[in-house]
Amino acid sequence: MADSFHKPYVDVLTELFYPQRCVGCERRASDVLCRGCFEALPLLERPFCGRCGAPTAFEVFGCGECRSRDFGFDGARAPLRYEGVGKGLVHALKYKGYLGVVGKVMGPLMSGALDVGARFDLVTPVPLHRSRLARRGFNQAELMAKSVAQRISAPVLDKLKLVRRTRDQIELSAGARRENVSGAFVSRGPVAGRVLLVDDVFTTGATLSECAAVLRRAGAEEVQALTLCRTV
Ligand SMILES: [Zn+2]
Ligand SMILES: [Zn+2]
Repeated sequence: MADSFHKPYVDVLTELFYPQRCVGCERRASDVLCRGCFEALPLLERPFCGRCGAPTAFEVFGCGECRSRDFGFDGARAPLRYEGVGKGLVHALKYKGYLGVVGKVMGPLMSGALDVGARFDLVTPVPLHRSRLARRGFNQAELMAKSVAQRISAPVLDKLKLVRRTRDQIELSAGARRENVSGAFVSRGPVAGRVLLVDDVFTTGATLSECAAVLRRAGAEEVQALTLCRTV
């Protein structure tokens, strides 16, 4: 699906005739991020925990934050901290419908966070409830999944379905988040091989864990979670 597909015609025209604005600082820029904001990207670099993606003092698999947690996924990665320009990118897409950030910034950052040479049999997004999808017009996780899939030459398939509306996770505690998403997803048909599960933000990992568990039950051998941002 072309990015312009989701955009009203008038928005496309506006972009042709008026200079772009940087999604980080809203100043005029020749691209979606100005140089200053690009340099201010809150990169989440090594060392981090290979299991949950949290920054750590040493390269570990299982850290103080996740050791007591049971996750449905085998590992989680995120190239950015959910703050500053990282948060600005997510908001520009989700709430302002700025689809240009997906292919230009998000896809490259996300695919770059994967291990070199990592192979996946399929990429699948965390789904949105249809009422939310109808309101927003697109699923941000799906757009990210498509951009990443293209870069790693893997097919993107909608393997999950949200069968009941969940509350917005923002206002919930970690325990309440797990309960909120428990049983909310089902798989669309059988799954096989290594799966890359994509969402916009990793907060407690409850949604990703629940989705990964569903994919495992449907037959996935391994599920790796990939988000653009992670709260730290
Ligand atoms: Zn800027
Ligand atoms: Zn960890």
